[in-house]
Amino acid sequence: MEEVKGIIISVTKYREKDAIINILTKDRILTVQGRSSFSITSKTFPLIKLFTKGTFEIYKGNTPNYKLKDGNIDEYYFNCFENDYFGLVTSNFIEEITIKMLIDNEINKYNYILLEKFLDYYLKYSNNRYFLVLLYFAKLLKINGISINFDECEVCHKKLNLNKIDFSNGGVICYQCDNNITNMSIKSFSLYKSLFLQKIDDVLCEEITLEQFKEIFDNLCILFESSFGFKLNSQVLIDKIK
Ligand SMILES: [Zn+2]
Repeated sequence: MEEVKGIIISVTKYREKDAIINILTKDRILTVQGRSSFSITSKTFPLIKLFTKGTFEIYKGNTPNYKLKDGNIDEYYFNCFENDYFGLVTSNFIEEITIKMLIDNEINKYNYILLEKFLDYYLKYSNNRYFLVLLYFAKLLKINGISINFDECEVCHKKLNLNKIDFSNGGVICYQCDNNITNMSIKSFSLYKSLFLQKIDDVLCEEITLEQFKEIFDNLCILFESSFGFKLNSQVLIDKIK
């Protein structure tokens, strides 16, 4: 038997009551089978909610797959997502993007720290959840090498009068090159800067409107799509938030 500390990043039901659970730890993603975990009398039933953080007891036996035996819950983050539509839709988005970005890439401990910090902030600063979802998205893009270069104009490479981002060209653009074509306020520009440049340990949460959230979210999706070549399923649901 082994004990692993981690956060559950996806739960899928299969057969009648079994579960396939992905647990993110500091150095890997572990896929674990939960036998009868969806049966309410099962010992593992309370453990298998999305984003549960804890210590999980797993074993292999004679088969190649790990199975979940028991565990201790440290934090049960899903509670703060299930109260309304925004929470449910964004939990779906966080699950999708975490799995898609991590499953084929090398895991470093920063992935775990980022998710843990995001969930802690989400629990603590529920007024800033629009900002926090965007922060998680931007930071995850950055870990995967997708970022915005804020140092120079994408077109002329000058370093002055940079105040807008042209997402179709993938970068920051100066006042002269833009010619007032890109519609972006100074407030939005500084938001992008804090999303990509702030350190996760000393994040200053900002209050933003749903409108700003949706606009920035769509632009981060453009960055995602241009690198990964596909659309996120959860984007459609987020578009429907009113
Ligand atoms: Zn320029």
